Amino acid sequence: MDIGFHGAAGGVTGSCHLVRVGGRSLLLDCGMFQGRHEEEARNRDPFPFDAAALDAVVLSHAHIDHSGRLPILARRGFRGPIFATPATIDLARVLLRDAAHLQEADAERENRRRLRAGKGQVKPLFTAQDAEDTLRLFRPLDFDAPADILPGVRATLLPAGHILGAASVVLDLEEDGRRRRVAFSGDIGQDDSCMLPAPRPPDRADLVLLESTYGDRNHRAREDTRREIAEVLDSAWEAGGNLLVPAFAIGRTQELLTLFAQHYEEWRLDRWLLFVDSPMAIQATAAHLRHHELFNDQARPLFDGRGLRELLPNLRETAGTDESMRINQVRRGALIIAGSGMCTGGRILHHLRHNLWRRECRVMIVGYQGEGTLGRRLVDGADRVSIHGEDIRVAAGIHTIGGLSAHAGQDELAAWYGAIEGRPPVALVHGEARGRDGLAARLAAEFGVDAARPGAGTRITL
Ligand SMILES: [Zn+2]
Ligand SMILES: [Zn+2]
Repeated sequence: MDIGFHGAAGGVTGSCHLVRVGGRSLLLDCGMFQGRHEEEARNRDPFPFDAAALDAVVLSHAHIDHSGRLPILARRGFRGPIFATPATIDLARVLLRDAAHLQEADAERENRRRLRAGKGQVKPLFTAQDAEDTLRLFRPLDFDAPADILPGVRATLLPAGHILGAASVVLDLEEDGRRRRVAFSGDIGQDDSCMLPAPRPPDRADLVLLESTYGDRNHRAREDTRREIAEVLDSAWEAGGNLLVPAFAIGRTQELLTLFAQHYEEWRLDRWLLFVDSPMAIQATAAHLRHHELFNDQARPLFDGRGLRELLPNLRETAGTDESMRINQVRRGALIIAGSGMCTGGRILHHLRHNLWRRECRVMIVGYQGEGTLGRRLVDGADRVSIHGEDIRVAAGIHTIGGLSAHAGQDELAAWYGAIEGRPPVALVHGEARGRDGLAARLAAEFGVDAARPGAGTRITL
């Protein structure tokens, strides 16, 4: 029995851990490497295991850095079951189809360039067909419903509070009469999400794989965040223009809509024209409403028997391009949620082009903005930016809301681990050096454990 680390080991993306027990093998996640060019190039590397010989996959949640290489796995001959919660399967359908579309479009663009340069053609990383082949392999596994997924492997999914359907994975393994329990945290959310219940740790484990994205710091208090949003809404209304909110299509958009529904009157949202201008966000919102039984005790009653139309009567979901373009005619009072979350593409770019140069407009940044993205340049106070090759003056006010992270901070990560009986050995995954080292120091100080920090290719024997 052992576990090998093949992604999100020394970095955040590409989550992929291989569990071997009694001659069987299963993967925990099979995510895409994202970020800098060298990182993304790793997606084309061969798997360090035989994809066709794998027996199963358990997927913690739908995010592409956990699910994005599943279509490559299928293309390389994997035909086994992929276990995930029904909500994760719903969201993975949206995400993997979109990712396949992007991969095909990227390859097409690259090939036109290569043709002109007299170079050979490239293939997309995976195709829409690969994504469909993958989606057929999904098998639903509910929270808190232990299932014997392979001989000698029982899997139990616990709510992780990170995005809809996100799970921590508990594997009870048995080989030659020896039993070991591995608990994989997946990505853990904050305790006080406005939409999802708090993450729930397993009661015991022999080895814990713990994420460490924000292992070195804590987030701002949720109450302060709500107040900040209310202030931005007020000042944006006073300024007399539009308010743009770049947001990730899955998770952040729905969290905002939930906050808007909860504070509709208090925040005077009735005076705005609300738009969700992203086909992917619209599909993801529908998936959230289908699974609203997974919401927390505050959010669930809100949506019980009521749709968005009733909760936010002035909300328009603009899927078509024509409807989306018509938003450009609105000069004041439009609150537009659109992707991409870091302003690296998508419809938010059109809205920024139409509104950034206007002094009376505002941009509310509600998510992490990676190095080198347009979103980061706005946060850093650039006074000119380039959008679709056009030079745009930044006259609109830019406001950053810091506390809406989908990830637990250091205190919450330490508490999650601390709730597991007997302080078992722990390996830190899914974190840059800073997060990992910060969390390792905290766990050493608080619990006296020496956390392993596996790199790609590291193997731990159980
Ligand atoms: Zn995630
Ligand atoms: Zn992740």
